[in-house]
Amino acid sequence: MRSGRRVRYGSGDNAVLRMALWRAWKSKCYWCKGPVEFNTCQIDHIIPQDVSDDRLKILKVEFGLPEDFDLNDPQNLAPICVPCNGAGRKGGATYSEPVYMSQLKQAARHRRAVVASVRGFGRSGKVAGHLLEVITADLGQGNVREEFLEFAPTIVQILAMADSDLAGYLSFERVEVEVDRQLGTEQGVNVSLDERGRMTESLLKEVCGADLASVFQAPIRELLREIGTRATAGFEALESDSPICAGEPVRDWLVVDVESLDYQRERDVIEVTIGGVFECSLSAGLTRSDPRGDGLEDLQGDAVVSGTFTASASWDLADALSGLEAGDCVIGEWTQESWC
Ligand SMILES: [Zn+2]
Repeated sequence: MRSGRRVRYGSGDNAVLRMALWRAWKSKCYWCKGPVEFNTCQIDHIIPQDVSDDRLKILKVEFGLPEDFDLNDPQNLAPICVPCNGAGRKGGATYSEPVYMSQLKQAARHRRAVVASVRGFGRSGKVAGHLLEVITADLGQGNVREEFLEFAPTIVQILAMADSDLAGYLSFERVEVEVDRQLGTEQGVNVSLDERGRMTESLLKEVCGADLASVFQAPIRELLREIGTRATAGFEALESDSPICAGEPVRDWLVVDVESLDYQRERDVIEVTIGGVFECSLSAGLTRSDPRGDGLEDLQGDAVVSGTFTASASWDLADALSGLEAGDCVIGEWTQESWC
């Protein structure tokens, strides 16, 4: 069976690979999770290319990577924004951090789509190549911009007629949600909305008088609680000679992305559903019986957790005073990397 051309980062033009990665990672920088434009996004090696052979050997064991792990394979590649690729952010971090483990896992999940997209590129004709030329055009040049503005709308129109679902675009915004009223703690939420999501956002504003910050408040608080409960259970399930008891986890950082916002109306009730993903690093004090004696041993547990969630809220139009009523926040997928 032919396995096809090997897909990997090379010394030449990596535009096709960059586009495949950008699409697979949903046009977000893998480091800060913020939206990044295709033309400014760069390809980053999660484990840096200049890692020494000895260090790589250790990382392979530490991260459970295959013996033939290739630094230039999509399994080690991700789109990154220019500020994050600078020395101040990613450059300042060390790559023994378990954060990398979670990123490598995400890259492994996206790998199949990236490889298929690169292999399929230009297979059946020249259109893909021409489109790539259009996508990578430098709109900073006056004449290029003029041509683009004149002809690109036709492409959008043709696309809409071929498949209207594909002709939409995502808009991005960041919403600060108050998660602790007493402490005044806020949590930033990255929101990417399609047309349906934008319609729901304006409906919430006009009919319910609620902005996204207030709609997300109860669900995000519920999500934080649920993450804490699950992480505690994860810590207590760590392999150990004696049972582990975990204290309340403290969040180090948390990234929440809302990726879908939709509504349904049944008679006088508007039901809103929110869907998204999260990634969180947290630590907790752990206690277990000291294997050497009969006293208790205190340890620090750290974990990176990630997963998906859905939440709901409803609004009863017949009861104007009731306001927006929060429903449940349910975690779907859940992964936890923990250690102590
Ligand atoms: Zn970034």
